[in-house]
Amino acid sequence: MAAILLSALAMTVIVGVRYLAVSGAFAVATRAVRPGLYAGLKPQIGREIGWSLASAAIYGVPAGIIAWGWQARGWTRIYADPGAWPLWWMPVSMLLYLAAHDSWFYWTHRWMHRPRPFRLAHAVHHASRPPTAWAAMSFSPLEALTGAVVIPALVFLIPIHVAMLGVVLAIMTVMGVTNHMGWEMFPRAVVHGPIGRWLITASHHQRHHQHYRCNYGLYFRVWDRLCGTDRGLGSFDRPARRN
Ligand SMILES: [Zn+2]
Ligand SMILES: [Zn+2]
Repeated sequence: MAAILLSALAMTVIVGVRYLAVSGAFAVATRAVRPGLYAGLKPQIGREIGWSLASAAIYGVPAGIIAWGWQARGWTRIYADPGAWPLWWMPVSMLLYLAAHDSWFYWTHRWMHRPRPFRLAHAVHHASRPPTAWAAMSFSPLEALTGAVVIPALVFLIPIHVAMLGVVLAIMTVMGVTNHMGWEMFPRAVVHGPIGRWLITASHHQRHHQHYRCNYGLYFRVWDRLCGTDRGLGSFDRPARRN
């Protein structure tokens, strides 16, 4: 029992520190690339950090319990021997995790934009206007719960090498931060080229935070395109400067 608690606590600390490190790094980058972009947003950033650290516990506890079960009881389909599955399975499993997470996110996110679920679960996330690099995990506890179950469920369903799981978590963390930081870090050729037609970067999620009922996806634009909710890319003009 003590080992389970310790693992849950350790994972909460890891998720919290990872958030602070990655958001902090991109906040520093923002100061260099777009000086003054977060001017006057200090109170909002304080709230974003508070909600995000609460989310860290909600993500960390189930992840910690499962990490303990993996080590102590052989739970999950996470494998450490690279030869346990064919090598081609590594990139395929990574893509499957991203696609599954993206699908879950699209439909729960779209549902949370109905009036009642929005008030109960999603308003906290949209209270950031405009969001900053600190808003990556700024969710109410209810919304954080809907996100916290995805990877813990997938590790029981889809075999994945532990390093590929690390890659999935890294992509999740970096994209969560950069999609909210208020500027586009990818080159124009990527964002406005064939890759950007299918991948979500800051320009796409920015439009969700401007217009709400569109661009619900997480990594890919597939569901938005299939369901007619994709409204293209947003711009990063400061509202004070234009219109
Ligand atoms: Zn968002
Ligand atoms: Zn939303």
